[in-house]
Amino acid sequence: MATRRHILGTALTLTGLSALPAIPRAATGSTGPVAPDPAPPNPRPDPRPAHAVAPRRPPLADSARLRAAAALDALLEGNRRFVAGSPRHPHESAGRRAAVAGHQHPSVCLLGCVDSRVPPELVFDQGLGDLFTVRTAGAVPDDAVLASIEYGVAELGIPLVVVLGHERCGAVRAAVDSLRTGRRPRGHLGELTARITGPARAVRDRPGDWVDNTVTANTLYVRRLVRSDPGIAPLAAAGRVTVVAARFDLDTGQVRLLSPPPGSTAPG
Ligand SMILES: [Zn+2]
Repeated sequence: MATRRHILGTALTLTGLSALPAIPRAATGSTGPVAPDPAPPNPRPDPRPAHAVAPRRPPLADSARLRAAAALDALLEGNRRFVAGSPRHPHESAGRRAAVAGHQHPSVCLLGCVDSRVPPELVFDQGLGDLFTVRTAGAVPDDAVLASIEYGVAELGIPLVVVLGHERCGAVRAAVDSLRTGRRPRGHLGELTARITGPARAVRDRPGDWVDNTVTANTLYVRRLVRSDPGIAPLAAAGRVTVVAARFDLDTGQVRLLSPPPGSTAPG
């Protein structure tokens, strides 16, 4: 269980979620109780002797959590290689290209920032077919972003979604500046930064750097938005997908988890 030990040993900074702004009603949708897995079609006792019955497979949710934990472990392992300056650049060969040309089975959906210094495949030392990636400034999700994540989770069966914020994010800085000055950026940029001002306001009075605190708050807020998406919330509640928040340090290259890893009993 090296994987398990590794994940539980990862330094976590669990920031209180209660201080973050409420999620807009439109994003919450059908988060009600999840229907249990359907009963097996034939409930009659198995006539075979006990020794002839195959071992019971783990429930679907347990299997998904194990896959999510393994996927996160692989990501963090790749990040350690990146930090150490010894990446393997896996899955970049012509053979890999041919292997995934007809289908894809990525284990991770990653929502990150467009920042040129945070390319997910490099940061996590991954390759072709490994990451199902969506990127926007500030990792801000709109309908198209959420639909893309829904597709990855529901159609491709991805068990792990990672929301990745990063140090000195320009979109976050623009949102904080708009609050400082009272001037909203023009055009679409104003609409985008307005989606970050809620988390920024929530941490305005916290000690430390306002922009840096907002990076963490915004990443956690986006995680909540993704988890409460109507297409994802039932799967998250059933343990079929785990959504985690993490942040990238531009100076060290290190990725740090901000929320509990898959299978954790900590409140998430
Ligand atoms: Zn950014």
